[in-house]
Amino acid sequence: MSNEQPKIPQATAKRLPLYYRFLKNLHASGKLRVSSAELSEAVKVDSATIRRDFSYFGALGKKGYGYNVSYLLSFFRKTLDQDEITEVALVGVGNLGTAFLNYNFMKNNNTQIVMAFDVDEAKVGTEVGGVPVYHLDELEERLNERITVAILTVPAQVAQPITDRLVRKGIKGILNFTPARLNVPGHIRVHHIDLAIELQSLVYFLKNYPAE
Ligand code: ATP
Repeated sequence: MSNEQPKIPQATAKRLPLYYRFLKNLHASGKLRVSSAELSEAVKVDSATIRRDFSYFGALGKKGYGYNVSYLLSFFRKTLDQDEITEVALVGVGNLGTAFLNYNFMKNNNTQIVMAFDVDEAKVGTEVGGVPVYHLDELEERLNERITVAILTVPAQVAQPITDRLVRKGIKGILNFTPARLNVPGHIRVHHIDLAIELQSLVYFLKNYPAE
């Protein structure tokens, strides 16, 4: 495999962690190859999309053989930077923030929440899921250049000023769980997950477009 990373479309890139997780399990169970039909069934993505996605990785499945599991795995590991841990900070140790700290993502990939911030004196100075909780006043002094991603689980009205501080401190990506729409400079990536809207949209689709 060459060190040149091909340019992958964003929609494909978003499916990579899904493929990666499944292939890791396959590999662990000793499977050497997998067909696009099997993958499709497991990750619930249609097989034409899988074939197109995989063609970007230079993985051309052979008819009647499928894809080589180790080849795909090493590609994904490289592409997703799985050999390197991405350090993450979380701001807002409420119900949702606490759940993330306890979960801490390490089972599925190499991202790890290494510190959290809150303004509630009862939470500051404690550890949640093994992660230290600092006062928001210490944000600038605690963040360091290894931490490039932040998760926001604060009340919506404080999301923007906290975002501005994170951006000034060099955070590159924000996973925003607040309903606030954030303004950020062009070089910052924000992924917005509004759980209330997702739930509402699921209910709407169930009512209007029931699954076959
Ligand atoms: P959720 O379920 O959304 O996490 P919650 O009901 O537990 O919320 P919220 O009022 O949404 O609590 O607050 C989430 C967390 O954010 C709380 O722990 C709160 O102390 C913290 N918080 C509030 N304001 C700030 C702030 N300016 N900076 C950092 N944390 C804050």
